[in-house]
Amino acid sequence: MSFPIVEILGVPVASLTMREAVEQAEQWMDERRGALIATANAEMIMNATRDEELFEILRAADLVVPDGAGTVWAAHHLGYEMPERVAGYDLVQALLKEAPKRGDRVFFFGSAPGIAESAKNKAEKLYPGVQIVGVRNGYFTAEDEPEIINEIREAKPDILLAALGVPKQEKWLKKYREELGVPVSIGVGGTLDVMAGNVRRAPKWMQKAKLEWLFRGLLQPKRAGRLVALPKFVLRVHRAKKGRKR
Ligand code: UDP
Repeated sequence: MSFPIVEILGVPVASLTMREAVEQAEQWMDERRGALIATANAEMIMNATRDEELFEILRAADLVVPDGAGTVWAAHHLGYEMPERVAGYDLVQALLKEAPKRGDRVFFFGSAPGIAESAKNKAEKLYPGVQIVGVRNGYFTAEDEPEIINEIREAKPDILLAALGVPKQEKWLKKYREELGVPVSIGVGGTLDVMAGNVRRAPKWMQKAKLEWLFRGLLQPKRAGRLVALPKFVLRVHRAKKGRKR
């Protein structure tokens, strides 16, 4: 499968539907590809403009999906088609839903101690027969890494969900990609927290009104400072568009 790519501040975001993203990930699992998937919201794209390593990882990723209303807005503003938002959380739910009948093995790596276990319990209730073949929290030192890598290798997952936050999860997945040998890895940010019921997602009407970013900022005050990334992003994209016209 190949999808049109829209460069947003240099980050190549695929223009695709949720269905297509799910099918692409499943195809890579079947091919045992070793693919890295990133879910890019405005904040991640802004981070990438300042963090060369993250920027290069996203440029080399197998797939960057448009996670966030800001990303979809930017594509439209630049004059490109982008059918819909492919939120990391929703992508994970869609993959978990199909995992039992496909026999996919899933590993949850990241978030505070206990969260991945709760997310596993939730997944087993929501998606009967799903195989969560391992869980590991995301708080570790460099000395713990060989053991974590071993744990993941021995569990033989088809899909690894890394919830370490941006850019730690992207850098970790890239660094250990060969050693891990997992067919598909995705950086999923706060997805396990939401599954565990630790953090709430915005109500549907707010998601529809493209206000999920505001909800998250208000609900988690420590994130409020991160809200300024959005207007900055809007300005940067706008300037990029004007620059292109000249
Ligand atoms: N986290 C982690 N290890 C760390 C730092 C963060 O496992 O060293 C987890 C944290 O507990 C949370 C997730 O990473 O579950 C980050 O979630 P957030 O919604 O902030 O994600 P982002 O917006 O950075 O993708």
